[in-house]
Amino acid sequence: MPVYEYLCRVCDTRFEERRAMADAGAPINCPSGHPDTARLLSVFASVGRADAAGPSGRPTTGGGCGAGCACAS
Ligand SMILES: [Zn+2]
Repeated sequence: MPVYEYLCRVCDTRFEERRAMADAGAPINCPSGHPDTARLLSVFASVGRADAAGPSGRPTTGGGCGAGCACAS
């Protein structure tokens, strides 16, 4: 299941949530309970995520979890 990154417009908190692709655009509360959140475009494109490839050595395509992403299965 892909991980999506969200930004709370109330307290400016960025948080990640593992959810089904179908639920990616559904409303979600931030960890502090604020409902006014926005989904960030791609967690892989975020600053500070240069280690996204991880110790497994799998290369990132840079496109995030698109339709053909293997992690969606
Ligand atoms: Zn918040």
